Amino acid sequence: MPDVIADPETDPRATYAVDPARVRALTAGVVASGEPMTTHTPMTGAPLAVLPTSTAADVGVAVDRARAAQRRWASVPVERRARILLHLHDLVLERQGELLDLVQLESGKARSHAFEEVADVAIVCRYYARRGPGHLAPERHLGVFPLLTRSTEHHRPKGVVGIVSPWNYPLSLAVTDALPALLAGNAVVLRPDPQGSLTALAAVRLLVEAGVPDDLVQVVLGPGDPTGAAVVERTDYVCFTGSTATGRTVAAAAGRRLVGASLELGGKNTVYVADDADLRRAVPGVLRACFASAGQLCVSAERLVVHEAVADAFLERFLDAVRAVRLSTGLHWDADMGSLVGPAQLERVLGHVEDAVAKGATVLAGGRARPDVGPFVVEPTVLAGVTSAMACRDEETFGPVVAVYRVPSDDAAVALANDTEYGLNASVWTRDTARGRSLAARISAGTVNVNEGYAAAWGSIGSPMGGMKASGLGRRHGREGVLKYTEAQNVSVQGLVNIADVPGLQGASYARALTGALRAMRAARLP
Ligand code: NAD
Repeated sequence: MPDVIADPETDPRATYAVDPARVRALTAGVVASGEPMTTHTPMTGAPLAVLPTSTAADVGVAVDRARAAQRRWASVPVERRARILLHLHDLVLERQGELLDLVQLESGKARSHAFEEVADVAIVCRYYARRGPGHLAPERHLGVFPLLTRSTEHHRPKGVVGIVSPWNYPLSLAVTDALPALLAGNAVVLRPDPQGSLTALAAVRLLVEAGVPDDLVQVVLGPGDPTGAAVVERTDYVCFTGSTATGRTVAAAAGRRLVGASLELGGKNTVYVADDADLRRAVPGVLRACFASAGQLCVSAERLVVHEAVADAFLERFLDAVRAVRLSTGLHWDADMGSLVGPAQLERVLGHVEDAVAKGATVLAGGRARPDVGPFVVEPTVLAGVTSAMACRDEETFGPVVAVYRVPSDDAAVALANDTEYGLNASVWTRDTARGRSLAARISAGTVNVNEGYAAAWGSIGSPMGGMKASGLGRRHGREGVLKYTEAQNVSVQGLVNIADVPGLQGASYARALTGALRAMRAARLP
């Protein structure tokens, strides 16, 4: 299979989907002296591209270039940077066809799921262009002595932000975390996953076309170790998205250097169908919650918790819908689900299903690989009877596999949702939105969607999102999503007299005067 063709550039049997000349054009600016690597498209398993790779020393060169560009960029007014984001918004929507092709070819997902990424980039561009300058604006605070002391909070860029992004959302996760970093005046060194490299490079091309200076965003290519690790070792702030295991390694490396890091990690997410759920909405909504991007989505649901009062009615309709999912690996819109990303993911997903079945679980729908559709395609799968002896009860499958649990009450649903080391996303389906909100308050997850799987919270960019517990540190989106890329600086100007040097007041008399002033400020309800 894939590796039989050694060199897709010259081997006449190679059926690579991206023209090598285009790959060379996209990778032309990458600092890369390492051994080339060949990627394959999950659609067919055929070679996709030969990519140059960046050694640790190359990453150092890229960081130096980015650092030089950042000094100039920091003096560009924030309003101009914001206009570039709006320009990117328009370009991404205009050129979505070519981006959708690349996302599909690299990740294997269905086109409608790839479109979520295009929409996400546009939403993030618009939000940070409109709201970002306000979040970054200097803010006046009451000085230690009102009128005498004037204090202002500024947000200075960190410098060079390192972004290490995974393959599952190759457009979204490469670009959307970079946008607020750039708006705040930083340069970016981006190491996309090898399996998302072409998409990331094409998106960065659009950023440059939108007006970002050439050297400001450096893309480096190669495996997590050494290339990703070198980005973590050399940048001034790290934004990492990936598994919890790798997140811990990245956090430790950032900690050794005392640089900040935000970590967007794994999940074991619950969708809860309450006894008053509107099943007409819940069935298609839960289907998307479980199987978008073939379940290779950090916020997708792998625990389907159903109130026993509606379990039979819900499952009857839900299983029909699961069995009707159209699988395809084509670059078209007529599919509901695509492929897994590659052989390792296929093995992991089938391994979880086989382990569960061997230990007594029942397959209610799906459960099989579908090599007739594509080499890494697995049917959307619903299991019942999953117990804690089975890997898929607590480990993230990161595939189209969901386990059904019937519960007698909301309390039991909340207990199950919280019975995990993770805390990324949850979804509650109920006609009573007050009940949904109060259940949300009891679930330890960074996002809770009521009557939606994940897109309501993900797309509501004004509110931050991220993981509790082992699902991460820090947040993307909203005010937090841009201020994390800055150092807060307090500049305080003292007028007229020095603080501890008031004429005529020394020692006890100074302390008495200050005590009186402090009491007066409290009485005046000053903060
Ligand atoms: P992974 O942790 O194996 O790899 C993530 C990325 O880190 C890869 O590109 C990898 O090359 C790189 N990497 C590996 N070792 C590294 C190192 N030492 N230093 C720096 N980078 C290194 O995860 P994966 O399997 O590729 O991605 C799926 C995981 O990502 C899932 O657990 C999923 O839940 C998570 N994820 C989380 C979010 C979120 O927003 N919370 C979003 C998408 C994916």
